[in-house]
Order: sequence, then structure tokens, then C-alpha cells
Amino acid sequence: MRAAQLQEYHRPLELIEKPEPEPVSPRDVVVKIGGAGVCATDLHAQEGQMEPAGLKLPVVLGHENGGWVHAVGSDVTTVDSGDSVLVFPAYSCGLCVECRRGREMYCERHQFTGLTRDGGFADYVLVDERSLVPLPAGVEPAAVAPHADAGITAYHAVKRLLPRLAPGTSSVVIGVGGVGHIALQLLRILGGGSVIAVDTDERRRKLASELGADEVLADADDVKEATNGVGADVVLDFVANDATHAAGLRMLARGGLYSTVGFGGMITAHSAALVGGEQAIAGNLVGSWIDLWELMQLHARGDVTLRTETHPLEAVNDLLDKLRAGEITGRAVLVP
Ligand SMILES: [Zn+2]
Ligand SMILES: [Zn+2]
Repeated sequence: MRAAQLQEYHRPLELIEKPEPEPVSPRDVVVKIGGAGVCATDLHAQEGQMEPAGLKLPVVLGHENGGWVHAVGSDVTTVDSGDSVLVFPAYSCGLCVECRRGREMYCERHQFTGLTRDGGFADYVLVDERSLVPLPAGVEPAAVAPHADAGITAYHAVKRLLPRLAPGTSSVVIGVGGVGHIALQLLRILGGGSVIAVDTDERRRKLASELGADEVLADADDVKEATNGVGADVVLDFVANDATHAAGLRMLARGGLYSTVGFGGMITAHSAALVGGEQAIAGNLVGSWIDLWELMQLHARGDVTLRTETHPLEAVNDLLDKLRAGEITGRAVLVP
């Protein structure tokens, strides 16, 4: 089969031929890829920043995978050949304390498809039965593949905020990209307050308006004025460089929460301002299997729109370059 493999850091992925995977353990499932989302995490992997997450070279990237069950191990009971599925990217054992708490991202035996084991920038991917989420009838895998990571990351971050999203509150999305455009919709569907989108790119501001943002701004420092000088109760940062971290903290209301989903910059805060304003800072790491299942229920109801563009597997390096340059609106999906 064809696969796009990360051989060396700071180099394009190599398109290679690999043997088609087969079930090894009784609960293994081989999924024929219908679509694999291209994500900023793939850029971080290329830049050598994902070793703390367990990445070892070489590895086939691609962690936002949807497709059809192709082959199953002897103990697999919940799916059959031909079923449409999404692949929850984190492998979780189901046995450790964190798994039993539903916090699969902290699993003692944590693995991640497309980072620590071969992913879906390929014709087929080998996963555990436990990772699969069946797709509602009529949903094409390529149309929802990015929900497997971008979607659950947005869902997980917004779900944690729900007690803060009462009517009359205001929340801000910094960066209306692949993850931010999903979070913007979830804040509207699941929360009762107003939603302000901030993005420096005109195309992404247009997308934010189309998705129903109450206010769309080019400059983060206009948020104070847009909230009558009060500031935002919740800020979600999907850009996460030094400048957006600083702007996110500046725009925060008293009692507010600044929550970063993106990563890369350095957060610097005056403790006196945090204490005086009773403000909090939080980080967010992907999401759980149940987050993906719940998000699929919203998708099936037509509540969440995913903006995607599809490309052949061979275009992977072009797409990574475009993503790095900020030239993708919504999410790029590879269809092998
Ligand atoms: Zn991703
Ligand atoms: Zn576990």
C-alpha cells in the first residue's frame, strides 16, 4: 500500500510502499482509509516537537482518520467488514484508573495513531477495536474525518467551559481555523452567551460570520470595547503564540478563564492580576472516545458544520506547506 512517512525531522514526508497491515492481536481492526485530516500537530511532528508525546521515527503520520472496516481480528464483535467508522486516535487500555475515569488521554499505556504508531496518511491503518466510533448512516468518512482530532479537541475544550457559558456571558475564539471553526459552533450550540471571533485573516473572519459569530474582529484588543469594557468571561486560544497569549489575558473579564488549545508560545502573567481578578489559565489535550461519540450525535442532527477540502494522498507535502503558511480555511482532508 501507499503511505506518507516521516523519515527525518525538518524534511517533507516520503511517499513509500509498505506491506498492507493485517490484524495481529485478536482485537485488531484494519481500516481502509476514506479520509485523513491534515493537522497542525503534523507540522509539530515534522518539526521534531512530538517526541515528548512518544513519537519515534520513522512513522506514518495521519491521526484524523475515517474509513471502512477492511479486516478484523478473531475477538472483534462490535464491527464488521464494510462498516463506516471514525478512528479515535488515542489508544487507551480501558483497564487503568485514568481510563476508568474516562480520561483516556492520561492512559498508562497511552499510544496515538499517527504519532506513536503508523497513522492514516496511507491506504490502510491498523487500530484497536476500542478506538472505533461507528458512523451514522449516510455519513461519508472523508466528510467527518477531522472530527477524530480537531473536532474532539474543540468539543473537549468547550465541554469543560459549560458552567461558564450562561446567558449574558461572552466568550472569545482566537483563530477560526481547523479547530477554532468547530469550537465557535459548539460555543453557540451548547452555551447561552455571545460568541466573539478574532482572526487576522479576512477569509477566516468571513467563515466566522457564516458560522454565526455574534461579533467578528480583526484585532484582539477590540474585545474590551465589544464587551462594553468588561472583557470576556472565557477566551479560547487556537493560535497560541506569545502575542495571542498576551492578548488573551488582556481581554479577560474578572473571574474569567483563559483556555489554550493551541500550543507553542510562552504565557507570561502578573500573579497580582490573576489574584485580583480571580482569573484562571487552563490547557486542553485532545478529548475522549465519548467526546467523539457525542460530537457524532451533534453532527447527525446537523448542528455542526465541518468545512473541508479534499486532496489526493500525493498532495500531502503541498498541504502541509499551505497549512504552515496559514493558507487553509477549514480543514484539508487526504483521500487516498
Ligand atoms: Zn490533529
Ligand atoms: Zn488505560
